[in-house]
Amino acid sequence: MLDKDIKAQLAQYLEMMEGDVLLKISAGTDKVSNEMIALVEELASMSSHIKVEKAELERTPSFSVNRVGEETGVTFAGIPLGHEFTSLVLALLQVSGRAPRVDEKVIEQVKNLEGEYHFESYISLSCQNCPEVVQALNVMSVLNPNITHTMIDGAVFKEEVESKNVMAVPTVFLNGESFSSGRQSIEEILAKLGSGPDASEFENKEPFDVLVVGGGPAGASAAIYAARKGVRTGIVADRFGGQILDTATIENFISVNRTEGPKLAASLEEHVKDYEIEVMNLQTATGLEKKDLFEIELENGAVLKSKSVILSTGASWRNVGVPGEAEFRNKGVAYCPHCDGPLFEGKDIAVIGGGNSGIEAAIDLAGIVNHVTVLEFASELKADSVLQDRLYKLPNVTVVKNAQTKEITGTDSVNGITYIDRDTNEEHHIELAGVFVQIGLVPNTNWLGNAVERNNFGEIIVDKRGATNVPGVFGAGDCTDSAYKQIIISMGSGATAALSAYDYLGKTE
Ligand SMILES: Cc1cc2nc3c(=O)[nH]c(=O)nc-3n(C[C@H](O)[C@H](O)[C@H](O)COP(=O)(O)OP(=O)(O)OC[C@H]3O[C@@H](n4cnc5c(N)ncnc54)[C@H](O)[C@@H]3O)c2cc1C
Repeated sequence: MLDKDIKAQLAQYLEMMEGDVLLKISAGTDKVSNEMIALVEELASMSSHIKVEKAELERTPSFSVNRVGEETGVTFAGIPLGHEFTSLVLALLQVSGRAPRVDEKVIEQVKNLEGEYHFESYISLSCQNCPEVVQALNVMSVLNPNITHTMIDGAVFKEEVESKNVMAVPTVFLNGESFSSGRQSIEEILAKLGSGPDASEFENKEPFDVLVVGGGPAGASAAIYAARKGVRTGIVADRFGGQILDTATIENFISVNRTEGPKLAASLEEHVKDYEIEVMNLQTATGLEKKDLFEIELENGAVLKSKSVILSTGASWRNVGVPGEAEFRNKGVAYCPHCDGPLFEGKDIAVIGGGNSGIEAAIDLAGIVNHVTVLEFASELKADSVLQDRLYKLPNVTVVKNAQTKEITGTDSVNGITYIDRDTNEEHHIELAGVFVQIGLVPNTNWLGNAVERNNFGEIIVDKRGATNVPGVFGAGDCTDSAYKQIIISMGSGATAALSAYDYLGKTE
C-alpha cells in the first residue's frame, strides 16, 4: 500500500512511539474498506506498539486511534493518505505518549476547556489547508478527554457531504452544528471557542521601539531585521504567515528549488521565534494614531504603543462584489481551487477571471469537474500565453470574453451564474454548481483611513527606504505601492523598512 520511500521514513517515525496504541477498525467489504485494512495492517506490521482490533464505529470505513484501555476520540473516516498522511503519523505518535509540538500555554488552554466538544472535519486528500485543522483537532482530542474529533474524507462519504451541504474544505462541525470553514490553527480554534487572549493581556505592555503590523513574509523579515539591531520589537498579525498559507507550491523563492506555502510559513515562524520578538497572533489592528508615541488599536479594544511602526498588512482575495457572492460563500462560491476543487467532481463550474491565477485554476479544475466556463470581463485573457495554449487544448472548457458577472444564483447553494455580454448587452444564465473567483487581490489597508497616504488602489505610498508620508511609519510588502508583489520582494522591502525604522530611532532619540 505504501511505497518504499514512504515506508522507510515512516519506520523512523514509528520508532519514536512511546507506548502502545490500539487501532479500532470498522470495515465493510467495499474497496475503500479493503484499502483501509491493508494500510492498518501495514502499520501494525511495522511497529510492535500498534495493535489492531475490529469494532463498530459510527462510520464505515473508519478507524480510531486509542491508548490501550482508553478512548482518545481521534478517528479517521476514510483513508488518511495524501496530505493527511502526516496527520495519521502525528496522531500515532501523540496517542502513544509523545508530547505535541504546541506551546505550553496552548496545552493548558486545551486542558482547561470545560464541556463536551465533538468535532467532525470534512476534508479532501488534496487540500493543503486541511491537515492543520485535522492535526489541531486531533491534538485537542488527545489532550482533553471531553474532546473528540473525526476526520471525514468527503470523497468517501459523498452522501454525508451532500446532505450537510459541505461545499468547501476543511469544513468543521461542532456537536452537529456548523463551526468553521477554512484553514485554522489550534490558537484560532481556541479563540473561536472563547478561550483566546483578551484585551487585558495586552494592556500595560511596555512601548515597543518597532511594532510590525502584519505577519506575512514582509512582516517576518522586518521583525527579524529590527530584532537583530537589539531594539524592542513586536509583531501583531491577524494570521501569522499571510498569503503563503494559501499557496500550494512555491518555486521562485531563490535558493529553495521548490517548497509549499504552509511549510515556508512554519519556517518563518520558527525563524522569528529565534529572536526576542513579541508575537501577538490572531490580533487585528483597527486604527493607527500618532500621540506621544504611535498607538495601534486592536479589534479587542487593547492599544499597543511604539516609537515606530512598520505596516505590512499584505493583501486579500478581491471579491467580485455581485449579489450571491457573500450569501453562497463556501456554499458553491470558492476561492481556493486546490482545496475545494474535489468537492465539485463531475459537476459544472465557472471560474471568474482570465489572468494567470484564473487560467491556472481552470486548467486544474478541468481535470476534476465535468465542465469549466471561464468568464473574463475584458476582450482578451490576460494570462501568459503558455497557460492559454494549455487551456484551449482542453475539451471541457469554454471561455467567454467580455462577460460582466451580474449575479451568482442559488437556493441553499449555488445553482447558476448570470452575466451580461458586454458586446451585445444581452443577459445569459448558466446552470452550474460552483463559482471560483480568481480576480486578483486588494491591499489590506482600509483600517488605516487617512493615517498614512495611499494611492487610488488603496496601496500605501512608500519611498525607496520604505518610508510613508508620516515620519516613523514605514510600509513593506503587498500593502504598499511596490511595483511587483512576490514573496522575495516583500521580504526585501521588510528588511528595508526595518533598517529605515532603526535609522529613524537613532535620529529621534
Ligand atoms: C495563491 C497565491 C499564490 C502565490 N504564489 C506565489 C509564488 O509562487 N511566489 C511568490 O513569490 N509569491 C507568490 N504569491 C504572492 C505572495 O504570497 C505575496 O507577495 C506575499 O505573501 C506578500 O507578503 P506580505 O507579507 O506583504 O503580505 P501577506 O502575505 O498578505 O501578509 C499580510 C499579513 O498581515 C496580516 N494582516 C492583514 N491585515 C491586518 C490587520 N488589520 N491587523 C493585523 N494583521 C493584519 C495578515 O494576517 C498577514 O499576517 C502568491 C499569492 C497567492 C495568493
